Amino acid sequence: MQKALFLDRDGIINIDHGYVSKIEDFIFTEGIFELLRLFLDKAYLLFIVTNQSGIGRGYYSEDDFLRLTSWMLEEFKKREIEIVSVEYCPHAPEEKCSCRKPEIGMIDEILAKQNIILEKSWLIGDKQSDIDLAHNATIANTIAIGERKIEKATYTFKTILECKEFLEKNKDIIAP
Ligand SMILES: [Mg+2]
Ligand SMILES: [Zn+2]
Repeated sequence: MQKALFLDRDGIINIDHGYVSKIEDFIFTEGIFELLRLFLDKAYLLFIVTNQSGIGRGYYSEDDFLRLTSWMLEEFKKREIEIVSVEYCPHAPEEKCSCRKPEIGMIDEILAKQNIILEKSWLIGDKQSDIDLAHNATIANTIAIGERKIEKATYTFKTILECKEFLEKNKDIIAP
């Protein structure tokens, strides 16, 4: 059984300027590599779970998304950060699918392949739907990032950098 860190993508991994689909628009957030390193050092498996309704809305194609994802994973690999998998919901909201956050389809996909201890796992997101996903899927610990008002998160920080600095000083929070 392993602990997992579930990560939203836009606003967490990269700066969210809305429907990012091109490499040149993909800017990693400050401190994200160091933050992920803290979790890797505590033996967490890393997963990205991302709503990509831009596909369903026709703003960009699934191929565009997959191309950007391969590039992103390469950038992580250069820094010795392994992401176990990237789960994405390509649907528009009106399709009423079972994978669009806060529905738990993407987490179920991961749990079907991995033995994860949800009581010791974390989720980091920047929207209420991320934190609601964690509650719906019984992921015990949550971190909300940003200026939005988000309810029910375990911790809230304005930026990824602040989150990283807090966890550097309080490593025991994510230790077993
Ligand atoms: Mg987001
Ligand atoms: Zn979906």
